Amino acid sequence: MTRSPPLLHFDHNASTPVDAAVLQEMLPFLAERSGNPSSTHSVGREARVAVDRARARVAGVVAARPDQVVLTAGGTEANNLAVLGAAREAASRGRHVLVSAVEHASVLGPCSRLREEGFEVEVVPVGRDGRVDPRRVAGAVRRDTTLVCVMAANNETGALQPVLEILRLLPSGVLLHCDATQVPGKVPLGEIVRKPHLLSLSSHKVHGPKGAGALVVRTPARPQPLLFGGGQEHGLRPGTENVPALVGFGAALERAAARTDEYVRTVGARTRALLAHLLDGIPGSRLLGPEDPASRLPNTFALSFPVRDGRALVPALDLAGILASSGSACASGAPEPSHVLAGMGVSREEASRTVRFSLGREVEEWDAEEAARRIRRALDPLLVAHGRQI
Ligand code: PMP
Repeated sequence: MTRSPPLLHFDHNASTPVDAAVLQEMLPFLAERSGNPSSTHSVGREARVAVDRARARVAGVVAARPDQVVLTAGGTEANNLAVLGAAREAASRGRHVLVSAVEHASVLGPCSRLREEGFEVEVVPVGRDGRVDPRRVAGAVRRDTTLVCVMAANNETGALQPVLEILRLLPSGVLLHCDATQVPGKVPLGEIVRKPHLLSLSSHKVHGPKGAGALVVRTPARPQPLLFGGGQEHGLRPGTENVPALVGFGAALERAAARTDEYVRTVGARTRALLAHLLDGIPGSRLLGPEDPASRLPNTFALSFPVRDGRALVPALDLAGILASSGSACASGAPEPSHVLAGMGVSREEASRTVRFSLGREVEEWDAEEAARRIRRALDPLLVAHGRQI
């Protein structure tokens, strides 16, 4: 009997499996330790201690004070709170907001909302490699600019953005929001998580549960709340805390950050090897995004393939047990090509035949050459120019 080949999970930027150790920490809070952190009895206090421990762990990873960490229900909520909350708070000083062209929908969506409220939101273009030029950002700042939004790393191309250079060029008083959901565990964090005034994080990108995240708020940022109610999270995110998810988030973020060096070494090497085998074995395939691996997340690359109908790519890979994503997972299913690729000047046609591969920790389970061969075999019936075999 032939054994089916292992599943190749190359869609980790969409989501990651919960770590076994993280799940173990969460389980009691899904069962008997069911307290509401606002309750003053012993079971409530136990839940409060757990949430505060999660907050302290998040704060430790980003070198913040615990009271600077607003725990949220994920990256989307953190981004909404940052963009809407900070722009509205500063509205009496100015109504000009700058945002990079390749931000996630959970940043661009609130920006559209700001426009409806009378703000002027200016989109800063990116180069062909998907990276923002810090001088272009600085050059677009006006006297009435209050907020600049540039992500740490793009989820579709892996492009690392020059957030620190941008910060250095910004006049004081202009806030920088950085969506850092894709970076923990993948690159050494350092100043990129310490310096931005508003920093968004998400749990399920770092082997934690879905529906948890944080916004780190540093002076002088003081976002207005989007929700009103019981006053939790310093009134910035009221609502009974999702204790098990937050416990998992704190544990997962800490574990991911602690293992970064190993991740960069192992996942980075395997990603570069897989990319090289694919480019070599599938003539006509093209890397979209930064050429230099040092300018990309170590686990991510976007490749366009020479096929007639790009819609068949992800299903063909899926049938062969290979998980990947066309553009951004959040946007897949939508007929519009990815705004990220469009922003890089990639044609609609090429964007429609682009696949994003985002690898994960399980590199010991597969071999790069064999994985490239499986991908080539899965796509073979679709490829227009049948070139070299691998
Ligand atoms: N920002 C980026 C860059 C992302 O990749 C994602 C997830 N696709 C989010 C924000 C949203 O995070 P969440 O899924 O936790 O809402």
